[in-house]
This record gives sequence, C-alpha cells and structure tokens, in this order.
Amino acid sequence: MTITGMTVRPETPVQYLKGVGPRRARILEGASLKTAGDLLWYLPFRYEDRTIFTERASVRHGRDALIQGEVLVAGTYATSRKAFRIFELVVRDRSGPITVKFFNQPYLAKVFKRGQTVILQGTPKYDSFLRGTSILNPEFEIVSTDAETQTHMGRIVPIYRRIGQMTGRQIRSVLFSLMENLDQDLPDTLPDTVRAKLGLPSLYEALREVHFPEYPAHVPAERFERMLAEKRTPAHQRLIFEEFFLFQLGLQMVRARREIRPKAHRIQIDDRVRERLKQILPFRPTAAQKKVLREIVEDLRRPPPMSRLLQGDVGSGKTIVALQAIAVVVENGYQACLMAPTELLAEQHFRTLSRLLEGTGYRLALLTSGIKGRERGRILRETESGELQLLVGTHALIQEGVGFRNLAFVVIDEQHRFGVLQRSELMRKGGLPDTLVMTATPIPRSLALTAYGDLAVSVLDELPPGRRPVRTVVKRDENRGEVYEAIRREVASGRQVYVVYPLIEGSEKSDLKAAAEMAEHLNADVFPDFRVGLIHGRMRAAEKDETMSRFVSGDIDILVSTTVIEVGIDVPNATVMVIEHAERFGLSQLHQLRGRIGRGEHPGLCILLVDRVTTQDAFERLDIMRRSADGFEIAEKDLEIRGPGEFVGTRQSGVPEFMFANIVRDRDLLESARREAELYVRSFRKGDPASESEMRRLVALWREKYGLFEVG
Ligand code: ADP
Ligand code: MG
Repeated sequence: MTITGMTVRPETPVQYLKGVGPRRARILEGASLKTAGDLLWYLPFRYEDRTIFTERASVRHGRDALIQGEVLVAGTYATSRKAFRIFELVVRDRSGPITVKFFNQPYLAKVFKRGQTVILQGTPKYDSFLRGTSILNPEFEIVSTDAETQTHMGRIVPIYRRIGQMTGRQIRSVLFSLMENLDQDLPDTLPDTVRAKLGLPSLYEALREVHFPEYPAHVPAERFERMLAEKRTPAHQRLIFEEFFLFQLGLQMVRARREIRPKAHRIQIDDRVRERLKQILPFRPTAAQKKVLREIVEDLRRPPPMSRLLQGDVGSGKTIVALQAIAVVVENGYQACLMAPTELLAEQHFRTLSRLLEGTGYRLALLTSGIKGRERGRILRETESGELQLLVGTHALIQEGVGFRNLAFVVIDEQHRFGVLQRSELMRKGGLPDTLVMTATPIPRSLALTAYGDLAVSVLDELPPGRRPVRTVVKRDENRGEVYEAIRREVASGRQVYVVYPLIEGSEKSDLKAAAEMAEHLNADVFPDFRVGLIHGRMRAAEKDETMSRFVSGDIDILVSTTVIEVGIDVPNATVMVIEHAERFGLSQLHQLRGRIGRGEHPGLCILLVDRVTTQDAFERLDIMRRSADGFEIAEKDLEIRGPGEFVGTRQSGVPEFMFANIVRDRDLLESARREAELYVRSFRKGDPASESEMRRLVALWREKYGLFEVG
C-alpha cells in the first residue's frame, strides 16, 4: 500500500513510502532500514553533476560524458556467443550521432523508441568494432516532464550504493519523493543552543541538501563540487557533527557519572612522600615524566576518582611514572594494583617494581592464574588484611574480584584491549579507585577522543636521553641468506636476536606450526652452533617463564617468538629483530615489536622480511617503518591506511561504526563535538524540566544508536 499526498514522518514504516512496495520493503528492512528516518540516513556516497551536457563532437575516450539527443535507431542483435545479446541505440545531438550498447538487457527494446529525447550518462570508450567511440551500459533517462526526470537528470544527482536487488537509481527515486513529502517540522536531534552557537543548518535542511543538493548562489560551482566530494558542505558537516556529538555526549555522561561520587580515600603530598619519590627513582626523570606525574598527582588529590589515560611511545618510561604514583598512594596508607595484558608482562612488571622498591619496605606480590594453592591463598589473605600494599597481575585480578582492604589506585597497562564499557566496569569493580590506563602503543588523537573519550589524557612525548635509533630495513624473502649472515655476526659478537612470527586470528594453528618449524630449522640447519629458543602464547606459563628467563640471562641467543613479546619485554642485550611476513602486521604493531630492541648501549637493527609476492602498496606501507621512529606519526599513518576498526584490532574497541562520519577525515568536527558535548553535560540542570526532558531525549537517541552501555 502506498499513501500518496500524505506527509511522511521519520517513524513512517518504509513500506508506506511512495515507490516502495512489499518486495522493496523486505529488501530495505533486510538492510535494517525500517523507517523513513532510517532511510533518510542512507546517504549518497558521491554526486554527479548532470546539469551540463557534453556535445557529441567533444566526446573523448575515457572521459565521462552526459549527452542529450534524439533516438535514431534502436535494435537488438545476437553475437557469436550464443546467450549474449546486444541492444544497440544510435543517439544524435546537434553535432552528430553516437552509438550506445547495452549487454544482455533485451527488455530495453520495449523502453526506447525512435524519436524520443534521451539523456545518457557514461564513459565513452574506443570501440574496435565500430572503429569509433561508443558508450557501454550508460545510465539513461527518457526525457519527459515527470518527476522521474527531475530526480535523475538536470541536477546534481546523488549516487547511492545499491541495497540487495534495489539499484542506486531506485533508491534515489524513493528518497526523492520521501524528501518531497517529508514533514518539514522534523524534530531536530541537536539541542537548539548547540546548533545556534555553531550556526548549523536544521536537520531537515541538512538532509534535503545532502540528498538533493542545489548549487548555492554565493559559492562558485567548482568549489561547491569539491565540497560535496569531500563532504564539507554545511549540510554534510552538520550530519557528521551530529553523529560525533551524540557519541561524545554518551562518553561525557559516563565520565560525569563517575565523577559525581567523591572517592573514599584522601591523598596528601608532604615532604616524606617527596623524599620517597626521589629515593625510588633510579635516574633523572625527563621533563615529560615530571609533567605527567604532576597531572596524575593532581588527580589523586581531587575528590572525584581519577580516570586518566597515559600515552607514550615505546620506551618513553611509563612504568616509572606509574610506580611513582603508586608510591604516593602507598605512602598515604592505601593499597594499589597494577594489571598487565599478559602474564609475561605482569611478571616483568613485578620483577622491575620489586627491584625499584627494594629498601622501601613495601610488600608486593604477583598474582596470575599460574599461581595456585597455598601461595595463592596467602596472597589473597594478605591482600584482604592490607598487609600487601601492591598487587601485580593480569587483568583477571580485578575481574575475579580479589578483595582488598583499601584499594585506592589501579593501573591498567592495556594495549587497547577494552571498550569503554568494559573499562567502565573494571573501574567500578574495585569500588571507586583512582584509575590510570596506560597504552602500550601511541594512539592518534582522533582515536583517543573516541575509544578513550571518557578519560583525561596525559602524554609522554619525550624519550629518555641516550636512545639510539634502530635501523630498519625491508628485505624480500629471497635475501634470507643475507639476513642469516647479519644474525650470525651479531650473535658472534655477544648480542641476542628475536625472530618474530605473526599469529593471525583464524590461522593460529598453522602459524604456530610455522614458528615452531622455524625454530627447529634455525636450530638444526642454520645455526647449529647457537642456542635457539621458542616462545609462544600457547605454552604453559611455567615453560614461558623458563624460556624468557633463559633469554634474559643470555642462555638463549636467538629467540623465535610469536607476538607475545610485543608488549613491554625489556632485554637490553637483544639488538636484532627479524620480523617474518612483516606485510601481515599493522604498522603500530611493528613499531611496538621494534621497540623491543635498541634498548641498550648497542645499536639495533630491525629486518622486515616480506613475502615474494608482496604488493607495491605493502612495500610503501612498510617503508614508513624505515623512515620514521616516531610512534605517533606511525600510528596516524596506520589509522589512515587501515581505518579505526582494524587499527584497534577488534569490534569491541570502543570505536563505533559511524554511519557517515570518519574520525580521520573529520577530526576537527570530532574535536568540536567533544567540546560541545562536555559543555552540554556540564550545563545540564537537574530539576529543570526543560533541561531534563531534552537530556532524556538525547539519551534515548544515543542508546538507540550506540547502545553500548547503560547510563543512569
Ligand atoms: P614504556 O613506556 O615503553 O613502558 P619503560 O617504562 O619500560 O617504557 O621504560 C623504558 C626503559 O627506559 C626502561 O629500561 C627504563 O628503566 C628506562 N627509563 C625510563 N625513564 C628513564 C629516564 N628518565 N632516564 C633514563 N632511563 C629511563
Ligand atoms: Mg611498558
């Protein structure tokens, strides 16, 4: 059923729209486009200017043309291939005739008639059959005075991606009449105050302009076309802003809610605490480390619980900053805990902290799933009684609900494994401790604003002095011999080497096998005189430990490994890293891996080995590794190339799939949406009916769109 002449509202089901029958309704609903409102957000991905016609005489091979002319001849003929039929049309404009061919669309014989005026849009090509130019399968329009022609020709035409059986052209028709009949009093998503402040068009205007743009009077046509292509028209910008604003609003509410209840503990800084901080610091902190510690301590002293992200490039010295903050908390009589993404890293953190805290009298313990029985019982007991001041472990620590006496500070060393929701839960589990999240990989600001938008951010943007840059080379697999020579030289002069294998989700089994076989091959055939070890995530914890400590103590020369060594491992004598199938890794991951070498006095060498069949694209991507040692720069590139979903690794990354916005392209809008959302949440007046009802409306919208977590 189709209701004509009736106003359409956002909640109108698609089946009642003009041009949508039961069959199309099913197609649209299958693509989650159930209402007019859903369809309105199905936006064109590009535009074509169909206002200026190309003269036949100026048609050129390979150059898009829009031709208007009269049909001279129309007919179908068979070809030598049996089932293959061509429908041919000759169309003439003022300057001459052109041939048009359609493959396998016999019904067209019924569509075209001699004498009709038609408009064709396509790319003319040289046709060796004709020894001239023809156009193959163009878009066409038979000129008449009806709405159809107005929709598809003689204007800037929106191009939509097809949905199942529905072509882009059919979608355009539906949207055209939808826009015609749409209630102009469309409720606006954005608060009026925000819209007025930023001078944004109303939702109705924006949707109309994005679907069926018109050349504005005051902007040159060429410039407007560029704005359309780059999604920078006011209408586009408004819709992008809206997506970001809603999402940021959610994050800011999570944050506000976290801050509403003051924490139970109180942290003070006095001379005794300052003395202690000096005592545990083995070296002079960098200016960045000092700045960040100040930011953290400030949070510790404020009544609302801290939720802060600490970012820093590999080796920028995050651990020591975390340790100082821990010391502040412990000196104030509270407990702290440090959680790492892997057992390997938890163990290493434990070793480092134990060493640095020697002489302080602090009691700390390591708790991982590998620690069982009586030992575990003792640790749990002493945590509960408060005898233990610092607990180091994996993320399971807090998920398993270990009981603390007075936990005041949680450090999460995370390697972006959590979404906003999970992190929020993690933070709540321990009561209301101050929380510091450390990321192992630098995150581009745009991503930090989304995936970590609920957190305040500190950045360590300076490396400790005396670091030598690691030299990076890209080698093809056939040069393996050279690579082995480099390894041999290095080991012979007392250094150690990593050989890293990718472990790709879905093919773990064969990848593991490859790593194991490589270890065996290197051991038996290539370096029988050296000691080769193997480590991977599937080994038992005790086995991993043993291998790792043999590498640390120098009993293993060459360590073949999967990416378990990616995060944090610190063996200064290891100077060479060979990364097999480097083309399979993301840039940020490569940077993180590379950070394992060049940590001592000897210069580091990173060899990226690539498959024989690596594409030019992959080569160029890897070349960034050769040119840059700056994790933030690499991360930006990585994000640009792979997009947010891939960059972060999982769908649970906390970065939603924006329908239209792109956090890389639209970074400025993201920033302003964040600012506005923050101000908006702050200006919310509890008890004021208008303010409350608007907030309720926004929360409902947000839930519908992003529904990631509950907001109270
Ligand atoms: P990351 O930020 O990658 O976790 P770490 O905390 O592991 O870095 O620090 C990397 C190395 O740099 C460690 O060996 C650490 O002892 C050392 N380090 C950290 N800060 C300084 C500093 N201010 N001066 C000298 N060395 C430092
Ligand atoms: Mg670290």
